[in-house]
Amino acid sequence: MSTPAPQGPPPAGPVAWPGGHRAAASFTFDVDAESVLLSGSPGSQDRPGVMSHQAYGPLVGVPRILAILERRGVRATFFVPGYTAERYPGVVRDVVAAGHEVAHHGYLHESLQGAPPEVEARWFDRGLEALERVAGVRPVGYRAPMWEPSWYTPELLHSRGLLYDSSLMDAEVPYELSVAGGTASLVEVPVHWSLDDWERYCFIPGISEGHIADPRHVHASWSAELEGLRADGGCFVLTNHPFVTGRPSRAAVLDALVGQALEAGDVWVASLAEIAGHVRSLGLAPRVLTPPVVPEGHLAPG
Ligand code: ZN
Repeated sequence: MSTPAPQGPPPAGPVAWPGGHRAAASFTFDVDAESVLLSGSPGSQDRPGVMSHQAYGPLVGVPRILAILERRGVRATFFVPGYTAERYPGVVRDVVAAGHEVAHHGYLHESLQGAPPEVEARWFDRGLEALERVAGVRPVGYRAPMWEPSWYTPELLHSRGLLYDSSLMDAEVPYELSVAGGTASLVEVPVHWSLDDWERYCFIPGISEGHIADPRHVHASWSAELEGLRADGGCFVLTNHPFVTGRPSRAAVLDALVGQALEAGDVWVASLAEIAGHVRSLGLAPRVLTPPVVPEGHLAPG
């Protein structure tokens, strides 16, 4: 009978932030547009209403978000699937021209669950090629679609020369993740479902029928999390989708949170590439993540 390893990896330790800052905050935008539904619900391509709901993101949401970021003087990170880059090249170039980071988010927002490594690598390279061709960007960061990387993903990112991933949830501060048998590492900047706008607001008939929350309640929740992470020296990573948060009342929440982080005075507001670059400079000892496994013979067959 097999037994699991006696303990998991040690928790990520505190991070010293630059400039005497007490904590860090990053505002990130996943420009999924149609890709997330084309991969997850291919039949949605025949639903013009649903497709238009997704198109709102790059067409209306991104310009509104860019205006907020410019007014606040904040540099953000935009995770762009390759398909989005090809369908909305002008929008993605506007993001780059505004000085923001464009990072990798798959080609068609593919689910990696069950995908063989060679298939995952092929999808990844197609996304990489699209960002380079359309926007002239060689991304240093990656976020797995649906925050669902495979156990192989860190190795793939390392093999393609990326600096960081932002998909895991086992810490509130960034850390170095061991790859390539301990000979190298990848910076991990953790995220959390509680700081994602999709779960709060997204309603798509037959696909994502969540409750549309009152933006004031969402603001209170995110604001409290920002204050909590600030007190603990953590890294606040907000994930917003332009087709969701691009709406005026929700964009106002984003604007207020950016203002809250800036006005705190002791929170370093930066892109994920800047945060990952800082973490890399600290020379942290990499953590080794070992996959848990179902004990052999424990579950009934079938
Ligand atoms: Zn996404």
